[in-house]
Amino acid sequence: MRIVLLGPPGSGKGTQAKNLVERYGIPQISTGDLLRAAVKEGTELGLQAKKAMDAGELVTDEIVLGLLNERLAQPDTEKGYILDGFPRNLSQCDTLTAMLEEAGQAVTHAIKLTVDEDEVVRRILERAKIEGRADDNEETVRNRMKVYADQTAPVAGYYEGKGLLTEVYGMGTLDEVFERLTNVLG
Ligand code: ADP
Repeated sequence: MRIVLLGPPGSGKGTQAKNLVERYGIPQISTGDLLRAAVKEGTELGLQAKKAMDAGELVTDEIVLGLLNERLAQPDTEKGYILDGFPRNLSQCDTLTAMLEEAGQAVTHAIKLTVDEDEVVRRILERAKIEGRADDNEETVRNRMKVYADQTAPVAGYYEGKGLLTEVYGMGTLDEVFERLTNVLG
């Protein structure tokens, strides 16, 4: 299974991806996590990424793809994976499709978690208190939502056009949402 998990910031993608890892035995690959690790290392690339992340903008495709390719080269990805936070714009969709085609592979499921916007902002500000993520302040969150609407929302349409998209309602308890996901994935 090669799953693309879509949904706005705060939709619970990361949390549900972790549950799916347990159930299906394939790794979660979060480009946000890969970027935060690069920022922590303090590399030149990390510094560039940090600027965009702190502003709630997308990091350049070049940086993101460099990190993703490195991760996908690891052997635990052979049976599949859950992509969390990627692709995030249409150009990343095309790149992923081409990369997979070259390996004779394809995305098998695209799942979009749908949520109520007010609830999402509440969740993120709550998470900010616990995790202290630099980009979880109200101004950056608002910009991340706008970037999502402008650049990432079309990604769902891309997979819908390929007949791969399922929308899953992301509100309710974690267990309820997880059950809806496993109903889709089998
Ligand atoms: P969230 O889902 O809450 O927005 P993420 O951890 O997925 O959180 O992403 C945090 C930040 O990392 C984004 O705002 C963006 O700056 C950057 N980022 C993550 N994934 C990508 C990507 N695929 N392309 C560009 N930037 C990305």
